[in-house]
Amino acid sequence: MLADPTTTPADADALAAAVHPADPSAPQVSVLDLAVTRGDGIFETLDAIDGYGQALEPHLARLANSARLLDLPAPSLELYREGIRQAIEASGHPRLSVKLVLTRGVEGAGICTGWVYAEPVPDFSIARTEGVTVVTLDRGYKHDVAQTSPWLLQGAKTLSYAVNKSVYREAERRGADDVIFISSDGFVLEGPTSTVVLQFGTHLVTPSTDQGILAGTAQAAVFEFGEANGFTTEYRTVTPDELLAADTVWLASSVRQIVPVVAIDGTPRGFDTAVHTAALDYLLARRS
Ligand code: PLP
Repeated sequence: MLADPTTTPADADALAAAVHPADPSAPQVSVLDLAVTRGDGIFETLDAIDGYGQALEPHLARLANSARLLDLPAPSLELYREGIRQAIEASGHPRLSVKLVLTRGVEGAGICTGWVYAEPVPDFSIARTEGVTVVTLDRGYKHDVAQTSPWLLQGAKTLSYAVNKSVYREAERRGADDVIFISSDGFVLEGPTSTVVLQFGTHLVTPSTDQGILAGTAQAAVFEFGEANGFTTEYRTVTPDELLAADTVWLASSVRQIVPVVAIDGTPRGFDTAVHTAALDYLLARRS
């Protein structure tokens, strides 16, 4: 647990002391915390391999951006960095998923609650090599929702993920593994916990992030891989037809990294195994 997640302690000793080790299986958060009663807060999940947090700074920047979108006080990124360092060190496991949370705190108390939690990651090797099947689902918002209705918080990583979970149950009912959201006016958005990336030959495309979607850190790493290997990259609107036309469609996310999509709404599709393997190797090799 972080003492006050929006205040940076004065020096290194105070910083270390502001991170309070806690047993995750014992109660830590008040039943009055707005995260518990309203899902009112934000989070990030990053991958830590061999002690290194992948895309640590982009995750911290996105945490700060989500805080801005929710009118929360700015998190102390120094304190979160220290919490991450201590959580990784205490775990000692070579493959971790590290979760950062900032909540609005107990209603009326005026102090945010924050914590960092690290746990070993599940084995995603089968999904990474064999791919996942996907259904497209209407998100119910137009693609310009972030501009027309910023209070809907599309594009912030909030703790209100009940919808992001319910769509997995809908996918299961339809016999699929995962979901790609489509805007109500017909544009490809993102997965419930992933960014969509398409490969057309040596061109990589992802939906532009002004469409009420998260700026993905794993997607950014796929683009880095592409740019280092002669691919061109582009952020733009994407139509559902392109999900079938692309050479590869990936779902990109921090812990699972990239998984190729092998069917969309029951229609099988292939993927470029050479490009997929090279991109996956690049992503897994990241140590910062
Ligand atoms: N979009 C949503 C809605 C997500 O929840 C996530 C990650 O959980 C992503 C995209 C992918 O982001 P990242 O690659 O930074 O994990």
